[in-house]
Amino acid sequence: MKRKKIVAGNWKMNLSWVEAFDLATSIKEKSEGVAGIQKIIFPPLPYLQMLSVIVEDEADFFVGAQNCSEHEKGAYTGEVSAEMIESAGASFVLVGHSERRMYFSETNEQLIQKINQALKSDLKIIFCFGEHLNERNNNLHFETVKQQLVEVLKHYPKEKTNELLIAYEPVWAIGTGETATPAQAQEMHAFVRKTLSEIFSNEIAQTISILYGGSCNAQNAKELFSCEDVDGGLIGGASLKAEDFCIIMNSF
Ligand code: PEP
Repeated sequence: MKRKKIVAGNWKMNLSWVEAFDLATSIKEKSEGVAGIQKIIFPPLPYLQMLSVIVEDEADFFVGAQNCSEHEKGAYTGEVSAEMIESAGASFVLVGHSERRMYFSETNEQLIQKINQALKSDLKIIFCFGEHLNERNNNLHFETVKQQLVEVLKHYPKEKTNELLIAYEPVWAIGTGETATPAQAQEMHAFVRKTLSEIFSNEIAQTISILYGGSCNAQNAKELFSCEDVDGGLIGGASLKAEDFCIIMNSF
């Protein structure tokens, strides 16, 4: 089964309007001629519409939001709904990023609601999960990851799994410069695929692209992407430089 190869950039709360425009334009120019690799950028919300226009004629280039509300609409000051995100031209949303879980105390119940809202608005999901350092050090990383996957994805509709992407992001590797070794990434990705086969079916599990995230950069992407069950990357810091992002995009 050929799975989609994907490089996604999580820009977090970085870049001015002009810098965001320049970065997206530069990625677009540099990715001309790169065939068969899906690129997805996750800029701050105010830039979604402007960047959606830049990518609208591109076959393999998409824009997504870093978060959406678990509510459909109403008196939730400061929140942005999935429908609003879709109407700005975005086609993806990140759900479950560890920074949202840690700094905004997002629970599995909220993640399930966010996914429901996103799917209702025809947004595709990248579901993020991963263990903390103390969990790995105590040999609890498989158990932790399994629980994160099962508790949320058992509610995900089977008929929409062709649009589901997931990202294993060990928290100890995010923004720390410490990357999982290719062996650690492959071991966990194979375990994740097995867990997906238990949640959905083996056939479905073989079709879902599993991205690695956590200090993936222009130097280590090739080694990580050469692992059998690593289908691409969710890139934070290194996605803010067009050159680095494009080297990563060419690392399959
Ligand atoms: C992330 O936040 O999703 C991420 C992978 O960050 P970094 O690449 O900076 O570790």
